[in-house]
Amino acid sequence: MKKIAVMTSGGDAPGMNAVVRAVVRSGLHYGLEVYGIYEGYKGLCEGNIKKLNRYDVTRIISRGGTVLRSARYPEFKDEEVRKNAVKQLNELGIDAVVVIGGDGTYRGAMALSAMGIKTIGIPGTIDNDISSTDYTIGFFTALQTVVDSVDKLRDTSMSHKRCNIVEVMGRNCGDLALYAGIAGGSEFLITPETGFQKEKLLAAIKKFNEIGRLHAIVVVTENMVNVQDLAKEIEEETGYETRATVLGHVQRGGDPVAFDRVLGTEMGEYAVELLVNGQSGRAVGLKGMEYVDYDIQFALNKKREIPNKRYGLIGRIK
Ligand code: ADP
Repeated sequence: MKKIAVMTSGGDAPGMNAVVRAVVRSGLHYGLEVYGIYEGYKGLCEGNIKKLNRYDVTRIISRGGTVLRSARYPEFKDEEVRKNAVKQLNELGIDAVVVIGGDGTYRGAMALSAMGIKTIGIPGTIDNDISSTDYTIGFFTALQTVVDSVDKLRDTSMSHKRCNIVEVMGRNCGDLALYAGIAGGSEFLITPETGFQKEKLLAAIKKFNEIGRLHAIVVVTENMVNVQDLAKEIEEETGYETRATVLGHVQRGGDPVAFDRVLGTEMGEYAVELLVNGQSGRAVGLKGMEYVDYDIQFALNKKREIPNKRYGLIGRIK
């Protein structure tokens, strides 16, 4: 193996640049040529590929987003389209690709592996919804952004004696809401794992109103409930003034926190070592204090372990 490439795909996440830097520098350390593929699988099929040297990745470790940019490209599910990707890689003599992204990106990598290209998947998504790793790259940066927002909303909620519903990202995974709920000291949590018992929430907020509690923060995972409608209903049913805030894409941005830089760097190095050792079709993860790798198919099918015991004080504060 002489040439490898690195690519970011799907939703961007802070810390992806740390992986790109680590793959480039580790690859060079092992005497490999390293290429950057721009705009995910779309750029791969279109040959948007450039050789990178160590100075191309100078100072990117501290920057949010991805210098390789990202794209959604559903066409990649079509084998005929994927043949373009294989052609582009073969023309440049690239043997292996490190892909950074979420489960969709992993599916693309698996399909590429089946066509003879060596692939390694690295979990980069703010949602923390990849079950083959305890933490995905970008999760802790997004979490900090959410917690900062919850802190600010609490200030204004307390001044006005309001309830604030905060919708956060996560797709089908409640981790961002759960950790933000704990770190932001929220009173209520609605996630795919907790489910939503509306009557219970209304009764609790009604009580808050009766005993004169100055604020209530409800953290909600996206797609669970229409937060604007819920705010109206809470206000009508309980008399407690309520606002809803959808944090949206600010959660994706910002300079990566130190942990995401460390995770990105170490996973990038680990991925290159796997390739140097002749491995392919593997997904890198962090389990406890150890970096691990699984077959990508296994990683995709693995069931998520839900951290039940982590609900902390949420719902117990009366
Ligand atoms: P994420 O990687 O964050 O989950 P997506 O689900 O959008 O984001 O997936 C990223 C890209 O991976 C898609 O735009 C597409 O190019 C590719 N992809 C997703 N699913 C498949 C699949 N089943 N087969 C091949 N490629 C796929």
